[in-house]
Amino acid sequence: MPSLVRKRVLVTGGAGFLGSHLCERLLADGHDVLCVDNYFTGAKANIASLVGSPHFEMLRHDVSTPLLAEVDEIYNLACPASPIHYQHDPVQTLKTSVLGAIHMLDIARRTGARVFQASTSEVYGDPDVHPQTEDYCGNVNPLGPRACYDEGKRCAETLFFDHRRQHGTRIKVVRIFNTYGPRMHPDDGRVVSNFITQALRGDDITLYGDGSQTRAFCYVSDMIEGFVRMMDSEDDVTGPVNLGNPHEIPVRELAERVLVLTGSRSRLVYRPLPQDDPTQRCPDIGRARRMLGWQPEIGLEDGLGRTIAYFERLLSGDPARTVSDALIAG
Ligand code: NAD
Ligand code: UDP
Repeated sequence: MPSLVRKRVLVTGGAGFLGSHLCERLLADGHDVLCVDNYFTGAKANIASLVGSPHFEMLRHDVSTPLLAEVDEIYNLACPASPIHYQHDPVQTLKTSVLGAIHMLDIARRTGARVFQASTSEVYGDPDVHPQTEDYCGNVNPLGPRACYDEGKRCAETLFFDHRRQHGTRIKVVRIFNTYGPRMHPDDGRVVSNFITQALRGDDITLYGDGSQTRAFCYVSDMIEGFVRMMDSEDDVTGPVNLGNPHEIPVRELAERVLVLTGSRSRLVYRPLPQDDPTQRCPDIGRARRMLGWQPEIGLEDGLGRTIAYFERLLSGDPARTVSDALIAG
């Protein structure tokens, strides 16, 4: 529903998976959107249908360098999110998280804008508290291959809370748990996109380890609703707030469900577990329920069905149609 007040909203990482859905939602709500992205893992196709709108503007820019903008709200999503992408250039990943946070906080401090940080369940590392609550400080290996992402996001959170204490900056920090849906990058190695594309192509389904590690998967529209509610909450709701679907399953079960839903005859094959891969992960979303009145609405079968339909069209070689279909479907 269009908002009564048209706000100027900056979305970093707006050409990525979550960012493009967020830009679309903000435009539908009646706001002006400035999308900033360096296209490292994002794609122009993700925002193609938004480009003609007089309320949408695209800027190619790397957030690890300073930016000037006059806006009312900032959503800071810029950062590669899949292990193969964030480990490709770990120093740049750290710069994106840390310098990107500094630059967005500087804009917020100067303009008085609210600034939202897309943090992650990875701040909990390989957790020994389960499910994870926001007051758990985590179990992160600061030297391992995931550290560029985990520690970069932890440092960004520190910067957000120090900015608030030091300058009164209006911060909003959410910790996002595994999210999936249309416009995930087909080759970024994340488990949902991997299993679906493997199943649709008839390739082997690659289970890392014995597949007993757990995750909890949230459909993208639910996550975007959580973002908007967090941004619209009172200034004293700073977070961190966990956002995710608390329905936890072993990765092996996810593979089995994908096989059933696609009707695929792919085989399950076992590959080595990557270093520091968390053995279990599930959000406690009590805080989001209480403070935002938010909880996920889309179940796994439904969300997987929508995502499979997207990848079927993508793999059939009609990406333009896929993008516009996904935009229409939301
Ligand atoms: P994505 O890779 O699709 O999107 C990230 C976007 O940021 C891309 O468009 C990329 O080009 C852009 N980007 C990367 N480095 C940049 C830089 N230096 N300057 C400008 N743009 C840059 O990933 P996503 O899944 O959409 O994730 C979005 C945000 O949400 C990330 O910050 C990620 O850490 C966080 N997150 C996502 C998940 C998830 O399950 N999808 C889980 C936890 C946290
Ligand atoms: N995974 C898997 N096969 C794949 C890709 C991932 O078994 O082809 C596992 C991975 O080891 C992890 C889980 O699925 O335990 C989720 O991986 P993803 O990279 O999607 O997200 P994250 O590890 O950041 O939660």
